Amino acid sequence: EVFSLAVLFQELSAKYGPQAKERDLSLVLPDKIHDCPPALGDPDRIEQVLIILIDNAIKFTPAGGRIELQVDWNDSQIRVHVRDTGIGIAPSDIKSVFDRFYKVDKAHQQPGTGLGLSIARELLQLMGQSISVSSKEGQGTVFTFTLSRGDH
Ligand code: ATP
Ligand code: MG
Repeated sequence: EVFSLAVLFQELSAKYGPQAKERDLSLVLPDKIHDCPPALGDPDRIEQVLIILIDNAIKFTPAGGRIELQVDWNDSQIRVHVRDTGIGIAPSDIKSVFDRFYKVDKAHQQPGTGLGLSIARELLQLMGQSISVSSKEGQGTVFTFTLSRGDH
């Protein structure tokens, strides 16, 4: 279905902004949010993907940090970015983070089963979309996924 990313982002900000603030993190929405073209896909599934990414960003970003949702687009697709100023992911781990049950913290001290990102990737693949990650240890991480435009 065709839906507004601006509305979805605002709902997520209302839901997760307070949770982020509790941990002294700011959750920042895209500034050009209202220029963003409508998206095409299953909004519930896309919300689920965003929740997985925001949950991780909150979990892996020390207090005082920033979590930013960004969006850009071209004629054929929209890209959504979830960027954080957190602990980052080492080059040796980055290839594995989408694997089921993979956690960088091998001792599994952190909460979570290591399933979030594998589910996010699977949901996006079912919609014909892709997700990628780029990170610098100690500086932060950005997850980027694609969406179809709903206006052509
Ligand atoms: P679950 O999502 O099942 O509760 P999880 O968060 O550990 O558990 P994933 O969401 O699949 O599992 O993430 C896998 C691993 O990738 C995490 O355990 C963490 O080591 C790393 N990771 C994911 N997102 C980030 C991030 N934003 N910054 C740093 N590391 C991350
Ligand atoms: Mg997770």
